[in-house]
Amino acid sequence: MGIKDLNERVSAAKAETEARGETFYPGASRVHLAAFPPKERWDDWVELDSRAWPERKERRYMLVPTTCFNCESACGLLAYVDKETMQVQKLEGNPEHPGSRGRNCAKGPATLNQITDPDRILHPLKRAGARGDGKWQRVSWDQALDDIAGRIRRLMEEKRHNEIMYHVGRPGEDGFTERVMAAWGVDGHNSHTNICSAGARAGYELWCGIDRPSPDHANAKVILLISSHLETGHYFTPHAQRIIEAKQRGAKLIVLDTRLSNTATHADFWLPTQPGSEAALMLAIANHLIQKDLYNKDFVRRWWNWQEYLVAVHPGLELTFESFDKMLKAEYEDYTFEFAAQETGLDVDTVRRVAETVATAGTRLATHNWRSAAAANEGGWQVARTLFFLNCLMGAVATPGGTYPNAWNKFVARPIHLPRHPEQWNELNWPVEYPLTMYELSFLLPHLIKQGRGRLGVYFTRVYNPVWTNPDGFSWIEMLTDEDKVGLHVALTPTWNETAYFADYVLPMGNGAERHDIHSYETHDAQWIGFRQPVMRAARERLGETVDTREANPGEVWEENAFWLDLSWRIDPDGDLGIRPFVESRANPGEPLTVDEYYAWLFENSVPGLPEKAAAEDLTPIEYMRRSGAFEVAREIGAVYEQPVLEEELEDPAIDDFGRVYTRAPAPAPVNLAPTGAPDPDADGRRPVGIKTQEGEILRGFPTPSGKLEFYSSTLAAWGWKDVAVPTYMKSHVHPEAMDPDQKVLISTFRIPTQVHTRSANAKWLDEISHTNPLWLHTSDAESIGVGTGDLVRVETEIGHFVVKAWVTEGIKPGVVACSHHMGRWKLHDHGQRQLMTTVALDHQGSEWSMTRTKGVEPYESDDPDTARVWWTDAGVHQNMTFPVHPDPVSGAHAWHQAVRVVKARPGDRYGEISVDTEKSHQVFKAWLEKTRSPVEHSPDGTRRPHWLIRPVKPTKQAYKLPARSAMKS
Ligand code: SF4
Repeated sequence: MGIKDLNERVSAAKAETEARGETFYPGASRVHLAAFPPKERWDDWVELDSRAWPERKERRYMLVPTTCFNCESACGLLAYVDKETMQVQKLEGNPEHPGSRGRNCAKGPATLNQITDPDRILHPLKRAGARGDGKWQRVSWDQALDDIAGRIRRLMEEKRHNEIMYHVGRPGEDGFTERVMAAWGVDGHNSHTNICSAGARAGYELWCGIDRPSPDHANAKVILLISSHLETGHYFTPHAQRIIEAKQRGAKLIVLDTRLSNTATHADFWLPTQPGSEAALMLAIANHLIQKDLYNKDFVRRWWNWQEYLVAVHPGLELTFESFDKMLKAEYEDYTFEFAAQETGLDVDTVRRVAETVATAGTRLATHNWRSAAAANEGGWQVARTLFFLNCLMGAVATPGGTYPNAWNKFVARPIHLPRHPEQWNELNWPVEYPLTMYELSFLLPHLIKQGRGRLGVYFTRVYNPVWTNPDGFSWIEMLTDEDKVGLHVALTPTWNETAYFADYVLPMGNGAERHDIHSYETHDAQWIGFRQPVMRAARERLGETVDTREANPGEVWEENAFWLDLSWRIDPDGDLGIRPFVESRANPGEPLTVDEYYAWLFENSVPGLPEKAAAEDLTPIEYMRRSGAFEVAREIGAVYEQPVLEEELEDPAIDDFGRVYTRAPAPAPVNLAPTGAPDPDADGRRPVGIKTQEGEILRGFPTPSGKLEFYSSTLAAWGWKDVAVPTYMKSHVHPEAMDPDQKVLISTFRIPTQVHTRSANAKWLDEISHTNPLWLHTSDAESIGVGTGDLVRVETEIGHFVVKAWVTEGIKPGVVACSHHMGRWKLHDHGQRQLMTTVALDHQGSEWSMTRTKGVEPYESDDPDTARVWWTDAGVHQNMTFPVHPDPVSGAHAWHQAVRVVKARPGDRYGEISVDTEKSHQVFKAWLEKTRSPVEHSPDGTRRPHWLIRPVKPTKQAYKLPARSAMKS
């Protein structure tokens, strides 16, 4: 609705009211209350002061856009800055944002709590006692930066680059810090991906060379979800609203979820499958499509690498599609409805009806899996691979209502400087046993260091809390408290967390309303770019002031981008380490690059259409982004693989036996840097450019080695995994055959909609809603051990146990228990979020650790009167510490599901108590290491990893060469 329409509505309402003889009050905003504030009025928006009621006191606001940082969805926010007090009064949705379209979940507006959090870190702090003692002294930013820069420089001068590591949880930005590490010449980027999305990424990457899905939910006829996307999924609010739109248009919703989640309650088919059996169901659906000839044969003939499959697996057969169809039928004939029913626990008729429903979708089948089952099982990557198999069978790939490879629905702009490639390979992040891992084996770090594979000289954690978030947290504490293993630990964080307690420096960084970043996510078939900015700084700049982010934020809270630019300059002030060119101003050579110049250049030069759009509003591109917060780069991208390769790109072309086309024409500089696979050149050095179809056209195809959708993965086959080179069912480590009869599967990964990991404990509104994580226990299971809701139960894992309250429910499958992982935050001393952290005591004898609760949450006095009204005492139980590491041997993903025994609490067991033996956890690590098929034995070309696979901060090709030492199993 435009402002003209709104004004007309107000005029009509005025006329009606006055016709009744009453006094008309047009509303503070003078527009319809159901509408978003139109952008034209964001400089001076008027609302009533709710506290002044019944007096109609009007307050005037400046509305400043930014981006939420409370989950990965990057929804737009609008900060309401009170023009009288110059304080943020509230945050609501930004209607200009193409992904979220003005909508947020509860965590978005709760950003306000995080700004005013009385327990937040306001100044740089340096450790004043032993690590973990809780003694801190305030230091200046200059002191901290000089000390850290000096140590990094010394490590570089001594050629100890692999001792520098940056370990990030939620990046919340598109590649800025990856490029900083590359500029430093350091292979030290470490992420949380392997405890999160590595399994799903592997499934998608192996199919299409792009490691994330982008379902076009809104236009789908059938939506098939594995996990709870309507409440907490990837991308929560942007996707949830589009799923509901599709449902309103009649789409069928199929949900695999062991729990009766919010998503399951909206489903046409809720399928509480046995954990780990999801791929069996996908393959039974696939088999139905294949055996009944319901699959899209034209698409499969055109876009699958079926010829490669026939040559590799059935070399005697004629190379025809008819041969392939026959072999496809034979390959999957055992995946019957009965087989799926046996594995999943569903009944045969339900499996049949689900398969028949999928078959009706045509090319409008939107499917999505992200963490969930792919992040929970050994072989979990096959969950995503078999799910996308259905899209590939139906031809529902990059079609309206289908699922896109994400890189086509995402826009990553080219930055002012593109960095070099590091010359080392960091064994601590990329251990040799995992050549196919989808990103760093981050959660194995304490074990790899324990094995003597390296040490850390300077270790950054950023928006990352491995002590609490990762499995096996006590092993992290052992590592972090050993100064021989970790020389300096710098925690960059907006809030206190369990890892920061074991840091040498704690440096306060801004939350979603206090920092700059850009992002772009695959929320639908479009490309957009969002801009996060420090709202108080932007507000003051609108008034004509020039301010540094630290001056505008509370205390000395800063932002990472400025921190990294400053630190990089201090490491290499003269340029002799080769770093300075990457952090130097273009406008003022010899001067450091500023955050403003970085973004101004990027918006001016790298975002198609933005300069023109800005000019139309008489703004520069960065002014436009500061005013709007987001920009839609393109929409309705469609099937990129069907785009023709241009004639001028085909210089001295060569075409291989399977139609892969190579060229000597140099690659143009890409406009969009969204990550994709990068297939290698041919033997003559030509680069792959497209695929020749059977009809003779040369099209773009997919960024895979074959250029096609890889039903048969030559990569898997060549690197030791020939037995699973086509989509296959792999029995999970929690398959009933692998468990004792008295064990249950613990689902430990489910989210709740009102908290996220460790980033939202400082939001009082969210804490009041969600502050506990009881164990979901089916009625029959509760009866068998004689417990009811609220009773204490002991959950025994491979390495220890935790004590938690039971919640008896019919909303979970019998034999399966579940505990949300957002809870159980703790602190050792006074520092911490007192609204959602209990105080605990840690104790250990050798490798045997225990945690006991000494104080619950309680009311306290602060500048915020609400803290005196805290009525809850619980903060839940920290379960992740009692889990050992389970690295999947292919994807590297941590298999989160646990085989546990749930028993009635023993006498003396106390709520929240944890016990763990870290020596046992190291033994579990070694046992899983034995499952790998190391490239030392299997590498086809003497390298450590297929070069074409996506990898953050790719080192030089030389660094890919295998070391001349034996495999590192020990
Ligand atoms: S926390 Fe909610 S509002 Fe914020 S980005 Fe995620 S879904 Fe959007």
